[in-house]
Order: sequence, then C-alpha cells, then structure tokens
Amino acid sequence: MSNYIDDTGIRQIIQGVQDDFIDLWGKNCRIVYPPKLVECVNCANGTWKNGGPMPFTYGLCPLCNSKSGYAAQEVSTTIKVLVAWRANQWIYPVKNLEIRVPNNYIETKGYYTDVPKIKNAEYMVVLSPDGFAHYQFKLAGEPIDPGSISQGRYFVCPWTRI
Ligand SMILES: [Zn+2]
Repeated sequence: MSNYIDDTGIRQIIQGVQDDFIDLWGKNCRIVYPPKLVECVNCANGTWKNGGPMPFTYGLCPLCNSKSGYAAQEVSTTIKVLVAWRANQWIYPVKNLEIRVPNNYIETKGYYTDVPKIKNAEYMVVLSPDGFAHYQFKLAGEPIDPGSISQGRYFVCPWTRI
C-alpha cells in the first residue's frame, strides 16, 4: 500500500488550488488594444476613389475628412485575473512607486497564456473593489512568472492607473 504523494502529485494539488483561486476569485478584466486604422474606402489622400460610396470633388472627403483613414472600432478581449488592490497583498512589492495613493497601483495574477494579450494591450479595464467604477490601468512592469512549483503557468505584474 502506498500512501505517499510524489512530487507530481503535490504539484498538481497546489496548481489545482491556485487555478481554483483564479477561476473563483479572479475578475474579468477587459484588455483594450490600440484602435486599428482602417484605410478609407472613399478616398486616397483626400481624392475621391472612383466607385467610392460618397463622391466629392470639392473640400474634404465626407467619410474620413480626408485623413485617408479612420480609427476602426476598439478591439478588446477579456482575461480573468486576481487583482490585489493593496500593496501589502502584493507578491512583488514594486520599488520606487508612489503607492500611498490608494487604487493607483494594482498587482494582478493570472494565467501565463494571457501574457501576450496584456503585453500588446493599450490598457486594461478593472472594476473597482466597491464595484462602482471602472478604472483603466496600463502595464507598469514586466510580467513575472512567480512559480517555483508551477513554472510557466502563472504571471504576476503591476499596473498603474491612467
Ligand atoms: Zn476618405
């Protein structure tokens, strides 16, 4: 009869607990990317394109004001992360940050597979602890893999409010 748990078993248990934490207590945060510029279908450098939907000969292109393009709708996605609002809850206290102003900095922990999403983000939208406001944060440091046990599974990183 065997009643020991090998390394792999312990790792799986700890990983399972950490996964549960993120899945149960994590917040859905919206990751917003820089808007994509779309080429105007009506003009090229302010001159009407033959066949464009809004012909014009004088003045500015009625579709894009002759900017030759316009910002397409905001591109975003949602990730689930644990949000630590108070610096004393942080895994990695950030040096040289002004942390006396409440809610200006947060630390998040999430799945490492989401790192490419946050690295390309313009900002992240987080619901305030009281649930009454949406705050925008930008990345304030490199995402760090905190795992000695579950390497490559999670990331932790700081954000600053914008
Ligand atoms: Zn145009």
